[in-house]
Amino acid sequence: MKNYLLIVFGSFIVCGTSWAELFLGVKEIDPGISLTFEVAAKDHILPSSFYLSQKDTDVHVEMLAVWNESAPAGSVVGGFVAYLKVAGELKNQKTGEILDFELTPHINLSDNLHYAQNIKLPGLPDDPYRLKFRVSPPEQGSLGMHLDWVMDFGEDLIRSHKIEFTNLDLSEIAISTRN
Ligand SMILES: [Zn+2]
Repeated sequence: MKNYLLIVFGSFIVCGTSWAELFLGVKEIDPGISLTFEVAAKDHILPSSFYLSQKDTDVHVEMLAVWNESAPAGSVVGGFVAYLKVAGELKNQKTGEILDFELTPHINLSDNLHYAQNIKLPGLPDDPYRLKFRVSPPEQGSLGMHLDWVMDFGEDLIRSHKIEFTNLDLSEIAISTRN
């Protein structure tokens, strides 16, 4: 009963946010990294000259990347895995129109550091969409690696991964706002 109450309380916190959020899935990759994919409500992102304004945005595409229990020694479980390269491709499955974008580091009070982008849908909100992510290791030279790490895990922080979600209905997220 106690657990049940905790679960109810937990979901109350989630519903306590006034905006909709579509959870797509989690992928575990080596070495001990959990990637969580979500589509969230549009938001005002600063500095405004670098991001699509909230009024021109339909949805905020996000990927959380954190160390999990299988992570190498020295990693903080739940800590942000930085310097990954994250590309997104959103395809309108009805018209074939494609939007390519980059997910860059963002910070807020709910997820802390994460990779994300404000985007405009390539079509109508109720068209079906396919969302592909390509997650790649840091650009050469952007992350220095000590010999102890390289000896155990090699010179690439991660291998490249492609993750795909199809037949997404983004209509509810597209009309949702955070204020
Ligand atoms: Zn975000």
